[in-house]
Amino acid sequence: MTARRGALTILLATVIASQAGAASLGVHAVRYVMGTWCDLVIFDPEPAPDIVESAFREIARLDDVLSSWSTESEVSRLNASAGRGPQPVSIDLANVAEESSALCTTTRGAFDPSVAPLLQAWGFYTESPGLPAPEIGREAASHVGCDRVTVRRNSSTIALADGAALDFGGIGKGYAVDRALAILRARGVTRAKIDFGSSSLGYLGDIDGGWPIVIPDPRDRDDPLLTLRISGGAAVSTSSQRERSFERDGRRYGHIFDPRLGRPVESSLLSVTVIAARGSTADALSTALFVMGAADGKRLLNRMPGVGAVFVEQSANGLVTTTAGKLPRVTRLSH
Ligand code: ADP
Ligand code: MG
Repeated sequence: MTARRGALTILLATVIASQAGAASLGVHAVRYVMGTWCDLVIFDPEPAPDIVESAFREIARLDDVLSSWSTESEVSRLNASAGRGPQPVSIDLANVAEESSALCTTTRGAFDPSVAPLLQAWGFYTESPGLPAPEIGREAASHVGCDRVTVRRNSSTIALADGAALDFGGIGKGYAVDRALAILRARGVTRAKIDFGSSSLGYLGDIDGGWPIVIPDPRDRDDPLLTLRISGGAAVSTSSQRERSFERDGRRYGHIFDPRLGRPVESSLLSVTVIAARGSTADALSTALFVMGAADGKRLLNRMPGVGAVFVEQSANGLVTTTAGKLPRVTRLSH
């Protein structure tokens, strides 16, 4: 489980070994934001001194909009107004909610940010989640569904049905990757990487041979299963049930819920990694495909140009790794 910690930044030496080979000047900074460590590397020779700060400030600002952990965030205040009709929201909340609602429809409810009451009932907003009493679980499930949320992006309003609540844990970090990279780009940065502990990554610009992406063995994260090389302008996100989970009577329950069943996903899937042009899409789809499973997920990917995925599954004979969709901007793949 992740705990909120105070803002903490580690600014490393400004000489970083460029992944292109030769050493070059740049900046490498690490900060605890959005409930996890975020790694920012700017490969430009002399980035402006405050540029790292401006990227992290944007991420912290988005956390104040999107976090379900803080009762003060904009989404928590919106959740408190459920049942009271359309409420005015910020452009970021409207953007994220609209993309989420669209995905709720295309994934037929596999990705659904209205899972918040389930996360609450199962204790996933605490450090010690557990099985809810059956009637509490059923009550929470009755408030979940794409139709519980009405987003009007033009007027920047969101209406939640009575008892409904939103959780953007499945898309927020990806959206933050997009916004932080947009700020770096606007400030003249040409090559950068932003990495939320591998669960959401984004790349700006290119390095020789492409940026290396390692898909680790979900059972032992130090063991690489597959390496991809991708070019800039791509975002990568990985979802797995192991990140935050608990065990009860020999069964493991994790933080990714199947909204259609009203309980955590239990499947042979160990992880799903998605590569897409935008961080928000990669993040939301990695969660969605984890819920849908490999077979349904592959059918969905065939209808979505510019998106690819790597599924890692446990089978009787060991791990099975399959790729689906187009794997956009992938230059090389090695096992
Ligand atoms: P991570 O938190 O490591 O980035 P994901 O991107 O897969 O992992 O997001 C999982 C989070 O998404 C959960 O912790 C929860 O906040 C939220 N969530 C869980 N199930 C769903 C779902 N079916 N649809 C949308 N969001 C979900
Ligand atoms: Mg996600």
